[in-house]
Amino acid sequence: MKSDSVNERAAANLSSRRVSGRCLCGAVELEIDFPAFWAWHDHSAASRLAHGAAYATYIGCWRKHARVAKGRGSIARFEDAKTESTRSFCSRCGTPLLYERKRSPHMVNIPRALFTGRTGREPRYHVAIEELQDWTYTGERLVPLKGYPGIVRERPKSRRRARDVDDPEFFHRRGTQERVLTVKFSQ
Ligand SMILES: [Zn+2]
Repeated sequence: MKSDSVNERAAANLSSRRVSGRCLCGAVELEIDFPAFWAWHDHSAASRLAHGAAYATYIGCWRKHARVAKGRGSIARFEDAKTESTRSFCSRCGTPLLYERKRSPHMVNIPRALFTGRTGREPRYHVAIEELQDWTYTGERLVPLKGYPGIVRERPKSRRRARDVDDPEFFHRRGTQERVLTVKFSQ
């Protein structure tokens, strides 16, 4: 009997646990009830553009388990008619905050990166993986870049592969900064 009450108490604590996330400037804080419903990586073009990133990683929550804890007045919204979705972001710092889809009215999606702590779900699912960009880092082995502390790089996959023009070593060997810029912007 004793262990039952301990379990009940643990379950109660778990269900009442809240985790919070925030935008870059801190004007907006979001809060969800732990755990999130699910988590996934979104490789679709709309999320890629909205985040300015290779892909976006979201946690999905029931709407009733997510709330704006602070800064409601700082939230701006963009209605995307093409995908029938609404994206909210901080009007001060631009951080994406909420991604809501018309076809899932009871769910709200929040960028995983806003939360520093655990959200209760690992992002093991991928949406639109066929749109994965060939410049996305997917875990290749990295080595230090000589002369640039803190920067690591991927080794070229094979000797036959053409060197990328944005390889700093390539720049240094081949000429001046002006020439580098010419190469970069003439692509
Ligand atoms: Zn902000």
